[in-house]
Amino acid sequence: MVNTAQNFDAVVVGAGFSGMYMLKALRDKQGLKIRVYEAGETVGGTWYWNRYPGARCDSESYVYCFTWDKQLLQEWQWSERYPEQPEILRYLEHVAQRHDLKRDMQFSTRVTSAEFDETTNLWTVRTDTGADVTARYLITAVGCLSDTNLPPFEGLEKFRGKWCHTSRFPRGGIDFTAKRVAVVGTGATAVQAIPEIAQQAKQLTVFQRTANYCAPARNGKVDPERVKARKADYDGVVRRIRSSFSGFEYSAIPKSALDATAEEREREFDRMWDAGGFAFWMANYQDMRSNQEANDLCADYVKGKIRKIVKDPLVAEKLIPKGYPCGTKRPPLDSNYYETFNKENVLLVDANTDGGIEEITETGIRAGGREYQFDIIVFATGFDAMTGSLKALNLSGRGGCKLEDVWADGPRTYLGISIAGFPNLFTITGPQSPSVLSNMPVSIEQHVEWVANCIDNMRKTGKTTIEATPEAQVQWVAHVNEIVGMTLMPRANSWYMGANIAGKPRTFLPYLGPEGVGGYRKKCDDVAAKGYKGFEMT
Ligand SMILES: Cc1cc2nc3c(=O)[nH]c(=O)nc-3n(C[C@H](O)[C@H](O)[C@H](O)COP(=O)(O)OP(=O)(O)OC[C@H]3O[C@@H](n4cnc5c(N)ncnc54)[C@H](O)[C@@H]3O)c2cc1C
Repeated sequence: MVNTAQNFDAVVVGAGFSGMYMLKALRDKQGLKIRVYEAGETVGGTWYWNRYPGARCDSESYVYCFTWDKQLLQEWQWSERYPEQPEILRYLEHVAQRHDLKRDMQFSTRVTSAEFDETTNLWTVRTDTGADVTARYLITAVGCLSDTNLPPFEGLEKFRGKWCHTSRFPRGGIDFTAKRVAVVGTGATAVQAIPEIAQQAKQLTVFQRTANYCAPARNGKVDPERVKARKADYDGVVRRIRSSFSGFEYSAIPKSALDATAEEREREFDRMWDAGGFAFWMANYQDMRSNQEANDLCADYVKGKIRKIVKDPLVAEKLIPKGYPCGTKRPPLDSNYYETFNKENVLLVDANTDGGIEEITETGIRAGGREYQFDIIVFATGFDAMTGSLKALNLSGRGGCKLEDVWADGPRTYLGISIAGFPNLFTITGPQSPSVLSNMPVSIEQHVEWVANCIDNMRKTGKTTIEATPEAQVQWVAHVNEIVGMTLMPRANSWYMGANIAGKPRTFLPYLGPEGVGGYRKKCDDVAAKGYKGFEMT
């Protein structure tokens, strides 16, 4: 049952990990009236929408969950190191039920615009299903990776077969048996989906624009003794991931790759490769992402692995990334990805060597002057990351200024959580916060708790509005850019840089803090402790 009153203390947009916890945290502060709007039919966000074959998290299950329900941490049994989408969705449904979250949520409802009224200091929120509502606080929990990117391929409307985007996969799935299938894209999603689709399809053709550096996931059941030990020390796990660099129990090797001997490096690389998961990317030498020479050593190791796994040297060469440093794009985790290209029913069409996609035809795809025939095309072309779903909210702040105008040259925020000129608006895992560079539940929980405490503080001290000062915002943006400028990250055409979307301003979207999520948490806490330094409150 949804609350029928139309004036709320807070409106939360989105019911994934972020929106669910935001509701719970605000509800726990006495007397707040809250409404959560969600475009999907239920909770789950990412795990409601992404139903493609092979969809699973790349974070390990014991840290890819809520840590605020300590009892559930003990009770819930994950089936694998990286559970599949249905299991994560089941988990989130269970959390919603256990904490009675749905009574304040309205599903199948998209927020279409929101504007701040300077006379009442309230937000007016519009949806595609009904009357406007007002709220003192507007909290976006719209997801960094939820605005589907389907590039405008010429001729798509002519295609007579079936097509879909991985993030809008049909509920009952698609039967690929005996079908000629195309997968467009080779990012983290495609790397999960391709081995699964190849097992069913008669013929699978993969269209690659940029080859990725993938490390093995090494999925499987987790040793029960290990599970027991982690559960016995969950307080320690939570403490460590919260103060870590990227929200995992990894620490980088505290030396330069260049200072290690060749034998020592090989041993360390082998250890990380064998451990699987994000170890190779997050527990590597500390200068992997800041020193090109060190980076080359890591990259050469991965390239050697690809050459060993992929039997046809021409195909291996196409799969070897070129022209950007390793670890500067979202690293996909591989479960039989490279091996899949050894199968006879799998063909790789590489834009650089074979020619890129020219158009979709009635019967397939034309690329590099050649026609390929398909029954089904799967677009694994990712998202308009970090800013897409925020811009789609059509937000108007003070003086009617529009977010899309203010952000025309790229996002500008204070701490990734607040935007000057948009009072009482909080952006959970917004641009210029660690967000997608971390194990996201850790960053989500940190933002949610900070926002809930901030609102609580405002109510207790009789404040009506809070907003970032333009000066604090300018300094934060400069800091974000300065830090990333010291690394190799801007050298890749990654979605972190907005480079996957034609016309999107080239700017680094998340925050790569010098001390990671732990250091960022301290900064945010320090801002609060100093009376919300950098914010103006009235
Ligand atoms: C395939 C995939 C795998 C991933 N794997 C990992 C992983 O291993 N580890 C990790 O840390 N992160 C991973 N992520 C990132 C993942 O998005 C986060 O971990 C987490 O699920 C984000 O939760 P959220 O609630 O912030 O956003 P989301 O889960 O994206 O939820 C946002 C919700 O907001 C809703 N929404 C947006 N706009 C509106 C609107 N205008 N009106 C109403 N509703 C709206 C959307 O419908 C969506 O349901 C993955 C992402 C994808 C796509």
